[in-house]
This record gives sequence, C-alpha cells and structure tokens, in this order.
Amino acid sequence: MHRLKERFFQGKPLGLPLYDIHGHVGGFSRDYPVFGGQIDQLLEEMDRIGVKRSLVFALGVYGTELRYQNDKVIKAGQRYPERFSGLALVNLNYPEKDILQELERCRSAGLVGAKLIACYQGAPAESQKIEAVCEYAHHHQLIVLNHGWGTPEFLRKMAEIYSAAQYICGHLWLAAARVVNEFDNVWMCTCAYLSPLDLQQAVETMKPERICWGSDLSDLHWGFTLGPILLSSLPEKVKKMILSTNTRELFRKLGLEKESE
Ligand SMILES: [Zn+2]
Repeated sequence: MHRLKERFFQGKPLGLPLYDIHGHVGGFSRDYPVFGGQIDQLLEEMDRIGVKRSLVFALGVYGTELRYQNDKVIKAGQRYPERFSGLALVNLNYPEKDILQELERCRSAGLVGAKLIACYQGAPAESQKIEAVCEYAHHHQLIVLNHGWGTPEFLRKMAEIYSAAQYICGHLWLAAARVVNEFDNVWMCTCAYLSPLDLQQAVETMKPERICWGSDLSDLHWGFTLGPILLSSLPEKVKKMILSTNTRELFRKLGLEKESE
C-alpha cells in the first residue's frame, strides 16, 4: 500500500507539510455557528494533522457583516502570520468604490487578495465590479478566489487581461480545464467534489501542478476533503503535489513562503 494511504488509515500524521487553498475562519457568523471553530482550536487541530498554512476568508459569505467578518480574518493572520493568509470578502451588491475601499483597507492590514461569491449574494456571476476587483488584484499582484467564475470564457478574459493576479476556482470545476492549462496564474481547488470520478478526471484533463487541496475548514473537518485524495488511486507523486507543493508554490509567488530547498 502507498505510504500516505497507509498512514491515513492508521490515523498517523502524513509526514508531509500540508498547504490548504480554501478555508473559512471566524467561529460564527450572523446565523452560522461552528463549534470548535475558534482560531486557537483550529490551530491545534492543524498542528495535529500537519497543516502548515491555510488561505482563509470569512465564514459568513453573504456580505451583510463583511467588515466584522474581515476583521476576524485580519486578526487571525496578524496573530499567526506563518499559518493563516487571508482574503477580503467583498459584497458585490455594493458600489464599486466601496468594494475597492474595503479591499484597500484589508490589504493595508495584511490580507493578500479577495474572495468572491456572487451567487450567495444574489449578484451576477460576471460583472464590471468583478473586473474591477481583478484589476485591483492585478495592480497589487494579489489573489482572487471565486466561488464560481460564471463561464470559463470570463475567467479566461480576467486571467489574460489582469495577468499579474492569481486566480483560484474555489470549487472543483472540470469545465475550466482548458483555462487552467492555458494560463500559469489559474489554480483549481479540489473542494468539495462529490463524485468519485471527478478528481481522476481533473488530473487527466488539467495540468497537475495547478490542482490544489482545499479543506473548506472550519465547517468541514480536514478529513472530509483529505480522504478522497489520499484514498484515490492517483500516484503518490500527484497526491503530494495536490496536498503540498502546488499551494506552497502559490504562497511562494505571493512572497509568503520561501523558495523550496
Ligand atoms: Zn468555502
């Protein structure tokens, strides 16, 4: 049996530094509590499992209390800069100037980009406001993680025009395979694929160095998203890329991790 799979079955640490491209912090939002979701409790579990660094954003994503939520993400990053790198949630129903103002406020407090989730906010999946966020990220060489990019064409347009930003598909999206392969600045998160064939298909159709494990902490336990990767029949080399080296490379591009030895 492969070493990683064996260790997972035995409940042992994998002996691999894990890098996570999608997580939520904050413990609770307006109507959504996560028991055991306080930052120190999360960190304790991350230490136990071997998660080195997580890219995180607000737990409440509707944007009704976004400053309050973003402040919690800022605090997590300031308290544990080696462990949490944060993205600013924006409300796409707000005027463009308010969106950019919040991005600026969060950037000056150490956050490294924006998290978008138009469908939860009742906003269009493709819009001038999203373009403005991508332009801002391009200007400051930041990340834009989007729950859903609308069409692959829209993502392609952003990646091409605002090429200095890094684009993350927040959930596994097989239809974007060609865009992932075409651009170096487009990253695909694995969470939370539900069909047993999806991961295999992603690896067959996308360049494996851009497929990255996302845990969707803290409302999901890490094991929920680690299991399907570790138990899959993918080669160990590919599993290691997905769980460790790929997202580490993204963090390195942002200047958050040092060059690999
Ligand atoms: Zn999520």
